Amino acid sequence: MQCPKCGAMLTALSVEDVTVDKCQSCDGIWLDHGELEKLRETGVQGIEKQLEEEYGNPAAPMLALEGYLRCPHCVEIGLRTNYVSYMQPVKMDHCIQCFGMWLDKNELDKLLEDKKQLDNVKVDKGMRAMLAGIAKRFSK
Ligand SMILES: [Zn+2]
Ligand SMILES: [Zn+2]
Repeated sequence: MQCPKCGAMLTALSVEDVTVDKCQSCDGIWLDHGELEKLRETGVQGIEKQLEEEYGNPAAPMLALEGYLRCPHCVEIGLRTNYVSYMQPVKMDHCIQCFGMWLDKNELDKLLEDKKQLDNVKVDKGMRAMLAGIAKRFSK
């Protein structure tokens, strides 16, 4: 597959049992449908940094790009900008046909960080509910 932004060939890299396609030229990452959820479930943080340290940035073959921001998977379909969010909106470009998504440099890590913040909020709520329960019991 080809990078929808700069035309370099994407490299398949595996992280936490998920295979992501990374552009070694502009550091964007392509995720197939469902891969973001899988990565989020692992709770792993700083994937982009991890990939950088593990694989470095080898030069990728550059090919002429036909049309800006087309789905690397479906080719004919243009990607649409969208915002995904748990806590704060993060921009991504997604394909309405295969539901894959393109994340520019740092956007994946932002999304994972965003999920972590949400989980922390959930934990806080759970803790508060538990403490409230205990307080009730003692007040009787
Ligand atoms: Zn690229
Ligand atoms: Zn597609």
